[in-house]
Amino acid sequence: MSTDPDKPAKPATLLVNAGRRAEWTSDPRLGGGIVNPPIWRASTILYDSVADLETRGRNTHDKLFYGRRGTPTVWALADALTLMEPGAAGTMLYPSGVAAIAAGMLALLSPGDHVLMVDSVYDPTRSLCDGLLKRMGIATTYYPPSVGAGIETMIRPETRLIFLESPGSLTFEVQDVPAIAAIARARGIWTMLDNTWATPLLFTALDKQVDVTMMSLTKYVGGHSDAMMGSLTTGPGLWDRLRGASYQLGLSVGPDECALMLRGLRTLDVRMRRHGENGLTVARWLAEQPAVGRVLHPALPSCPGHALWQRDFNGTSGLFSFTLKGASKAQRTTFVDALTLFGLGYSWGGYESLVVPSDPPRSAEPWSKSVLADGPLVRLSIGLEDPADLIADLAAAMATAGLV
Ligand SMILES: *Cc1c(COP(=O)(O)O)cnc(C)c1O
Repeated sequence: MSTDPDKPAKPATLLVNAGRRAEWTSDPRLGGGIVNPPIWRASTILYDSVADLETRGRNTHDKLFYGRRGTPTVWALADALTLMEPGAAGTMLYPSGVAAIAAGMLALLSPGDHVLMVDSVYDPTRSLCDGLLKRMGIATTYYPPSVGAGIETMIRPETRLIFLESPGSLTFEVQDVPAIAAIARARGIWTMLDNTWATPLLFTALDKQVDVTMMSLTKYVGGHSDAMMGSLTTGPGLWDRLRGASYQLGLSVGPDECALMLRGLRTLDVRMRRHGENGLTVARWLAEQPAVGRVLHPALPSCPGHALWQRDFNGTSGLFSFTLKGASKAQRTTFVDALTLFGLGYSWGGYESLVVPSDPPRSAEPWSKSVLADGPLVRLSIGLEDPADLIADLAAAMATAGLV
């Protein structure tokens, strides 16, 4: 397979072929080639001589050097993710999504800098800003996810980074990413996007002037709830800086996890389509239930971010929330506990459906004040089960909780 940059393949084709370079899957001395890059485990890399060590051991990024810098299994995954994002120069991999966020922010920020952070952000990102980064003298201001071009008025002379997450993974407000990224670029401010919900299949970020795009591969890319990893992908301007900082932090990933992520990546297109379809079937049913207030799903016209989603996204994944209109939190607890086909737990994007009750933390404006918060919130990650079974389970749990 040639991944000729002048003849880019369509995303579904790329997902099948990307990262399967001949030098990672075959050895001319052994003949033939292996479909998947084998799992190369390594800490020490041996050199032939001192001369070899002094030449090969310098400034190598995609040749064997030392285990922490990766082996072909690791490079294959990074290469595949880079190819999925038009305009990308490279991808760094991290032991988790949170590690990717932390590494990206540490790579870009210095004491005295100011960050504009979306208020619907994933909670551990908020903890990083309010904890470690604050202690290092980096200040954060939270902005409403609907801010759009209004971000301009919040920029300070010391603002270095605008962080986006779209849609937010609890409340699903869609951000005007192109508008914010254009303003940031004009002002010389970097942008970083948490693109875990969409993946580059549904939303490409660098072509919308985002500087660094991040994913928790733990979710849809892995897809099977058995491995954790994160990624940062960036263009030529920041690639050296990002890679250098990641080397200094000593963050590396194991080849076994990379092989699991590569396996997930090969089926991402077909899984994502089914997650999206099943999710919409369930969301549309929920929207008709008297017990349900708001269904927070960007692909539903009733959802506030719908127009932006329609403009910028190529489809939907299977993660969304809804409110139990006017219900008590005790009723929500009874409802969630009564579900049998939905696992109760954090994370999402696996083949199995999950539920979690949530009370979104906010800094700019309490969630309870939002017009969207007309009852306690429940988040669903819709898996690959038959949606009719999931709907029957939800209906039964509503009855158990006295909601119908
Ligand atoms: C899960 C998640 C992360 C963090 O990923 P981990 O791999 O669990 O560390 C980051 N952002 C979003 C939106 C997530 O849902």
